[in-house]
Amino acid sequence: MDLTYPPEAEAFRKEIRDWLAQNLPEGWGQPGFRLVGDQRRQFNAQWIRTLRQGGWICASWPAEYGGKGLSLIEQVVLNEEFARVDAPMRADFFGDTLVGPTILQWGTEEQKREFIPQILSGTISWCQGFSEPDAGSDLASLKTRAELDGDEWVVNGQKVWTTQAQFADYIFLLARTDPDVEKHQGISYLLVPMKQPGVEVRPIQQIDGSSEFNEVFFTNVRCPKDNVVGGVNNGWKVAMTTLGFERGASSTTGHRRFQKELDHIIAEARRLGRDRDPLVRQGLARAWSKVKIMQINGYRSLTDALHSTHHAAALGAMHKMFWSEYHQEALDLAEDILGLEGQVLTGTGERDELDPLSRRGRAGYPVNELQASFFFSRSETIWGGTAEIQRNIVGERVLGLAKEPKPAR
Ligand SMILES: Cc1cc2nc3c(=O)[nH]c(=O)nc-3n(C[C@H](O)[C@H](O)[C@H](O)COP(=O)(O)OP(=O)(O)OC[C@H]3O[C@@H](n4cnc5c(N)ncnc54)[C@H](O)[C@@H]3O)c2cc1C
Repeated sequence: MDLTYPPEAEAFRKEIRDWLAQNLPEGWGQPGFRLVGDQRRQFNAQWIRTLRQGGWICASWPAEYGGKGLSLIEQVVLNEEFARVDAPMRADFFGDTLVGPTILQWGTEEQKREFIPQILSGTISWCQGFSEPDAGSDLASLKTRAELDGDEWVVNGQKVWTTQAQFADYIFLLARTDPDVEKHQGISYLLVPMKQPGVEVRPIQQIDGSSEFNEVFFTNVRCPKDNVVGGVNNGWKVAMTTLGFERGASSTTGHRRFQKELDHIIAEARRLGRDRDPLVRQGLARAWSKVKIMQINGYRSLTDALHSTHHAAALGAMHKMFWSEYHQEALDLAEDILGLEGQVLTGTGERDELDPLSRRGRAGYPVNELQASFFFSRSETIWGGTAEIQRNIVGERVLGLAKEPKPAR
C-alpha cells in the first residue's frame, strides 16, 4: 500500500494550511486559548462566513451548484488539515452529509438547482424521517403513506427518533406510495416542508432534560409532486444511498477525533496516577491499537475509492460497526480511570453550534467533554443502523455468507 500523497495533493495541503493560518484567530490551538460565551458565538457566526468565502463548505460538490468540485483526495486533505488544527467545519450533518449528496446523486436538475444552493448557504435545515415505531432495523416495514392528489403528495403517518425535527425546515422522508407490491418496492423518498399545518412535532425528553429527537406526526401534510427523489417507488435504493453516506461518513479521517480523545484519556490517566495500573495500561494499549486500525482502514477505503474498487456499503458497515463499538469501550475505560471524579459534572453547559459534542450538555446538566461523549456513545451502536445490522451486511455482502433467514410471509 502506497501511503504517500501525490504532489498535487501536497500542494493543495499547503494552500489549506496557509488559508487556516491566515484566517483562524490569533493564538488558536495554543495552550490556554479558549473562546467562551459571546466570544464563541461571535467567532462561530464569523467563521461560517469565512468558510463560505473560502468555498470550503461542501467543497467537493460540483462548481455548477456552488461547490468547489474538489477531487476525493483533495477533500481528504481538506478534512485532515482542518482536523489537524481543530478548526471547525460547519456541522449541518443532515444537509451537508446526508440529503445534499443524495440529491446530487439521484435528484432531478430542478431539485439540484432548488435545494443544493440552499443547503450550501445554510438557509434551510433538515431532518431525517426514516424510522417509525415498527420500522427501525426492518426499515422496509414502514407504514407512513403518501398519495397523489393532483400536483401534490398527501402524507399521513408517524416517524420517531427524528433528530432536530423541532428546528428543521424540511424532512427527507420515506413513505409508502404503492401498498400492493413487495415491501421494499412501493416506497418513495420525499422532500417535505416541515412548517405547515398537519405536522406535529413532539420532543422526546432525555434523562439529562434535553430533547434531541422527536416523534413526528403527519396528518394530510403536503409537498409538490416533483419532490420525489430518484423516482416514484424507487425510494429504497435512494435511502440506501443516504445510509451509505451516514455509515461511511468520516471513514478516511474519523480516526483523528478518536486519537485526540484518547490522548485526553491518557493525560487523565497520568494525572491521576492510573497509568501505572496494569489493567488500565492494557486497556489504553488496546484502544490505541484500535485507533491505528481505523487509520489504516481509512487509507484502505481511500485507496479503494481512488482505484474504483470501492464497495462503499460494505466498507461503511464495517467502519460504523468498528468505531461505534470501539468508542463505547474507550469511554467505559475513561470512566473507570476517572473513578468518582467522573461522576462530578464539570462542564459549562454551553451549547456550541459548531461543536457537535456540545449538543449533549445543557445548563441544568453540565456534562464535560468526556461525560458528553460517554453518554452519546451509548447511542452510536444504534443510530444509522445498529451494530448487529452492520454485522449482517458484512456477513452477507463481504463474506458472502448465507442470507439471514426471514420469517415466512
Ligand atoms: C440518537 C439517535 C438518533 C436517531 N436519529 C434518527 C433520525 O434522525 N431519523 C431516523 O429516521 N432515525 C433515527 N434514529 C433511529 C435509528 O435509526 C433506529 O433506532 C435504528 O435503526 C434501530 O431501530 P429500532 O430502534 O427500531 O430498534 P430495533 O430494530 O427494534 O432493534 C432492537 C434490537 O434488535 C436487534 N435486531 C433487530 N433486527 C435484527 C436482525 N435482523 N439481526 C440481528 N439483530 C437485530 C437490533 O440490533 C437491536 O439491538 C436515531 C436513533 C438514535 C439512537
